[in-house]
Amino acid sequence: MEFVGFDESDSYQAALMQEIEAAALLVGERLREELNKLFPSLRLTAREAFLLVYGGKVTFTWTGERKDHGAFTESANSILVYDTRPTDTITKDDEGNDLPGAITNKRHWATHELGHAFSSALSGKPSDDTGTFLDMEGNEGVGRPRDGSGNENEYYGFGGPWKSPRKWQQSKYSNKYEQFADMFLGWVYGEWAPSFNPSFGSGQAMSNFMNDNMPIWLSNVYP
Ligand SMILES: [Zn+2]
Repeated sequence: MEFVGFDESDSYQAALMQEIEAAALLVGERLREELNKLFPSLRLTAREAFLLVYGGKVTFTWTGERKDHGAFTESANSILVYDTRPTDTITKDDEGNDLPGAITNKRHWATHELGHAFSSALSGKPSDDTGTFLDMEGNEGVGRPRDGSGNENEYYGFGGPWKSPRKWQQSKYSNKYEQFADMFLGWVYGEWAPSFNPSFGSGQAMSNFMNDNMPIWLSNVYP
């Protein structure tokens, strides 16, 4: 992990850095498990597995910009971090959106962003395959409620409700990119909602999809 622009004397930014490091370690551990199954002779450490998959370090840059979302993953190795906290005088971002407040569940948030970066590192294949998965399973059924509609108590197959505070569904959008990043989060933690209602999203279907595809996606990272 590399950090640019963070102010460690700001306790919020310091906490973000700490939780980003913790998320990267979790991701590295899970990647190590998968890669050592695929390539036993490599005997990778978590750190080596992470660097192999991402093609090097991932840099988180504190931009200082205020936005209604916490980050933008611009490539496999670069994630731009925004300030979502309102102040006494600033309550909206430059686009006029309400600032939602400090990021809660920072480790889950960082894992979601590393999910976007993971997909980029593999040329977008995980997100594209997620699009096919959503078409097959039905976007309404397995995906999150579209753009914030729906009952916030529903789990939609993820390990918790879609908001308040965000944990397992870090984005309200139902596109394949956000769906994949949240499924990556579920896969890293191994937490999914039970398939209590087949018409409302299935944690089992998402878990199966991730477990089936991770080895396929990762099979190409080592020559
Ligand atoms: Zn996202």
